[in-house]
Amino acid sequence: MVQLPTFEHTPVETIPAIAAGVRRAYLDHKTRPLEWRLKQLRSLYWGLKDNEAAIMEACRLDLGKPDYETYLTECGWCANDIIFTTQNLEKWMKDESPPDIPLMNKALSPRIRKDPLGTVLVIGAYNFPIQLSLGPVIGAIAAGCSVILKPSENAPHAAAVLQHLFETTLDPSAYRVIQGAIPETTALLNEKWDKIFYTGSAGVGTIIAKKAAETLTPVCLELGGRNPAIVTKHADPRLAARRLAWAKIMNAGQVCVSQNWILVDKEILPAFVEELKKAFAEYFPNGAKNSPDYGRIVNNRQWSRLKKMLDDSKGRILIGGTMDEAERFLEPTVVQVDDVKDSLLVDESFGPLIPVYPVQDLDEAIKLANDVHDTPLGVYPFGNKAETDKVLAEVRSGGASVNDGFFHASIPTLPFGGVGSSGTGAYRGRSSFECFTHRRSITTTPGWLEGMLKIRYPPYAGKLARY
Ligand code: NAD
Repeated sequence: MVQLPTFEHTPVETIPAIAAGVRRAYLDHKTRPLEWRLKQLRSLYWGLKDNEAAIMEACRLDLGKPDYETYLTECGWCANDIIFTTQNLEKWMKDESPPDIPLMNKALSPRIRKDPLGTVLVIGAYNFPIQLSLGPVIGAIAAGCSVILKPSENAPHAAAVLQHLFETTLDPSAYRVIQGAIPETTALLNEKWDKIFYTGSAGVGTIIAKKAAETLTPVCLELGGRNPAIVTKHADPRLAARRLAWAKIMNAGQVCVSQNWILVDKEILPAFVEELKKAFAEYFPNGAKNSPDYGRIVNNRQWSRLKKMLDDSKGRILIGGTMDEAERFLEPTVVQVDDVKDSLLVDESFGPLIPVYPVQDLDEAIKLANDVHDTPLGVYPFGNKAETDKVLAEVRSGGASVNDGFFHASIPTLPFGGVGSSGTGAYRGRSSFECFTHRRSITTTPGWLEGMLKIRYPPYAGKLARY
């Protein structure tokens, strides 16, 4: 058993001084040199390695997360992010010479400098408590910013490990963790930031964006969405079922990019449901509840919310449906629904509920997908190429995986983000660096150019005729 640090709220009255200290570190230009950034990132990398067991234990306690998932999606994920970033940072930081500069402007040596945005606030969500906090922090350190992280209080063990990681690996003058919930986050939002990076629900995202607007602070919002999967009659029912089942059992369905509903062509529906049954039986031979490979709902409030969603549904349960509040267990549950007003569809479930909605054809699926949520975080079409291309062209979304559930989000170097109400801005790989960087356009006017430049000075008489 690993000894974990304890989670304690940061006293609200200390927050302004902590924020001021972190801002001072940025204004002192401490966080800018390449060597500084690399040192912090490498130290964080080794901290992740040293604390791998603690991270696994914390994610097990918070979410019942299997160690394999924790490695792939939390500690291993962040360590790989750091390796990729440290290998490329020097190149990313270099000034860029923009292409397409007119010949007559070349004498001004136009270039784009990569300046850090400044002091940034990162607010994390609970479902991938390490990855969703450290991912943006890695980008902010790489960009030369100073950072305050506010992890999700709903994953308190992971939040405490994050604080320990910060305190033991990063320079405390420039990088700090503030622990807490609404009062602490509200106090943080009253401070001045150069960017706020928020991951979580659209409701809280709106609060953050409004508050940021008061001081014209830029935001990156990584929000949720009612993501559709579409299975046409030409799809392979076995592949579609195996992949979409996987996309809802990972982290017990608490994945922002996981499909919220599956629109299935009526012709293929019976075969698809049969294949879903087989997939669950294969993944959990002794049932999900007895499997060491299936997580739990983060807390009783979320468990009760999901139970109510299921209780209120007018749909027919086809697979699963068992629950156990004491364990915060909810079996992967497939429900056939035929009303877009069904409780399983009006809100994002963010859990292992899998509504399937029979449709006549692809056109109906596309119309419904657009009617229910016109800018989801992800869309997942299964079918032939013409069909999946049509879905990509006619259904907007932050990202998409063709013939798969949310696998595009597993590519660490592909920009990740929403569109419209599923978010604004993107990060991951180079995009994380760019998210916290100001691309500063610069020219240098040489003295010898003055002879040519005098055309810009008044008096203008007669000058227009030369154009
Ligand atoms: P949440 O919005 O409840 O909490 C996220 C963060 O916001 C926490 O740190 C919390 O302390 C803070 N917060 C909560 N209420 C606040 C308030 N009134 N004022 C200020 N701060 C407040 O989100 P969650 O429940 O942790 O996550 C679930 C949601 O996040 C889902 O909608 C999911 O789709 C979305 N999500 C999106 C992504 C993404 O990358 N796009 C990733 C994970 C989760």
